[in-house]
Amino acid sequence: MLFPITAYDREEYESIKELLPPKMIDIHCHVWRNSDIDKSGDENKGPRRTVTWPDLVAAENPIEDLFETYRLMFPGIEVTPLIFGTTGGSSSAPESMKPQNRYIAKVSKEHGIPALYYSHPRQSAEELEVAIKIGNFRGIKSYLDLSPAYLPEKEIRIYDFFPPEQLEVIDRMGGIVMLHIPRPCRLRDPVNIAQIIEIKQRWKKLRLIIAHIGRAYCVSDVGDALERLCACPDCDDLLFDFCANTNAEVMRQLLDAVGPKRVLWGTDLPITRMRMRRIEENGTYINLVPPGMYPSEVPDPHLREVCEEEAEKITFFMYEEIKAMKQALENSKNASPEDACDIFYGNAARLLEIE
Ligand SMILES: [Zn+2]
Repeated sequence: MLFPITAYDREEYESIKELLPPKMIDIHCHVWRNSDIDKSGDENKGPRRTVTWPDLVAAENPIEDLFETYRLMFPGIEVTPLIFGTTGGSSSAPESMKPQNRYIAKVSKEHGIPALYYSHPRQSAEELEVAIKIGNFRGIKSYLDLSPAYLPEKEIRIYDFFPPEQLEVIDRMGGIVMLHIPRPCRLRDPVNIAQIIEIKQRWKKLRLIIAHIGRAYCVSDVGDALERLCACPDCDDLLFDFCANTNAEVMRQLLDAVGPKRVLWGTDLPITRMRMRRIEENGTYINLVPPGMYPSEVPDPHLREVCEEEAEKITFFMYEEIKAMKQALENSKNASPEDACDIFYGNAARLLEIE
């Protein structure tokens, strides 16, 4: 078995099962083979500009592991994923993403599942367009650490990893842009908000998904972002996924602001295989984890081990995410648990044109 399922996990699954429709679409998951990641010249790459704890959960996530994860975590439910690769590491060269994209195109075709191309900001618009057509991709995903190495992490803007000429290509095809926003202030960051609005004003046909609710893992990360985005008429088809987010209050605020038709379920697998419960402390998140399960050489401020006894009541990050959405649907004035059909399936099915 890829990972064990405990009696406590089953109990937790029982508590969310009735919410979930028989078919679901996972709008956000990473699929890659370790052998396709370019590890050469790591020392020449810029400083690491991502959090370290996700590496401790899985070294790779080949397509077989993804399907096995769904089988173990959602018995009896048919899950269709929208797949894409993972970051090749800080400031990797454009060529280094090719093996991953080839693998994604191959398994997408073999399994008849939709996929996004993992783009690199130094690729020309022409090259991007050709690659997307050949691989039959639905759009692009990229990541802030592919921005130029000289940029300090806190200064990275959306256009540093999704340059305008690439967004132009996606707009022409009416494709998807899966956006993990940069910057330490996350969703409430005024530069992020201004660029999200600008993207929607300039490129009206592209479908922009703000991943992880704009990394608003704490209520204090939301600020006035939802009001400002809702006040912009060009943003009325802006989409949000809530993967790897476990904050029920942030989800409630999102549902109240945009309603249930623009919210999409994603898993961010393999990371949500992690066993953890997330708490908020001084405006940041801490993942409480079982002792010894995720040994880290460098201390990570986002990880904290609990005692053995407390660890027995820790289940998957994935279930915590869904439990939070369940609570948000119960508390929202603009959505109800019946909307789970749209959030876990219908909205993504319409976006991806899946029956
Ligand atoms: Zn992700």
